[in-house]
Amino acid sequence: MTPTSIEGLAEKYRLLLCVECGKCVAVCPMGKLFDDLTYDATPRGVIEKVLLDFDILGDERLWFCLTCNVCTDICPQGVRFRDFVEAARQLVIQTGDSDQGAFCRKCGAYLWPQHTVVYLRQKLGPSAEELELCPKCRQYTAAQKMKGLVPAGRRVQAGYERKGQGMAGETGGAGDGGPSA
Ligand code: SF4
Ligand code: SF4
Repeated sequence: MTPTSIEGLAEKYRLLLCVECGKCVAVCPMGKLFDDLTYDATPRGVIEKVLLDFDILGDERLWFCLTCNVCTDICPQGVRFRDFVEAARQLVIQTGDSDQGAFCRKCGAYLWPQHTVVYLRQKLGPSAEELELCPKCRQYTAAQKMKGLVPAGRRVQAGYERKGQGMAGETGGAGDGGPSA
């Protein structure tokens, strides 16, 4: 079961074992993406803050991580920073605070941080709109579009076929009085 406090998450995801070696900061891609990223928002900076007073739920620095998990792969202490951040964000959302998150335009499911959306919009332009839907809603939207491409008459014919009445306008098939061998 996922803990419901920052203290519990810090323990579960091994933040208490951090030895401040800085390897996670060296490999983290956030600095290359966000011009305004400060040390406070790096994985090590966030961990320092958590271990200081656990008071980070309302803190913007929780919302920069891209959840790539590279830091976890390199950490000599097995600190699972990505998993900690994802769980901490869910805690924030459960309190009703949605300012830092972006949510699916159709169903309202959490997608990613606002920082990520701003970055994607800058890089991808209008095509980033597709990314403002969750995978399920994207799938349903595509299916609706495909459905709209099928001519209406074709759908009626398919219905006749299912009932064993043959295709409308079809000749020469079994049971329609056509020539037999
Ligand atoms: S790599 Fe691991 S031990 Fe080193 S600073 Fe980052 S979280 Fe701490
Ligand atoms: S999971 Fe987050 S903190 Fe870790 S390397 Fe990726 S972006 Fe950086």
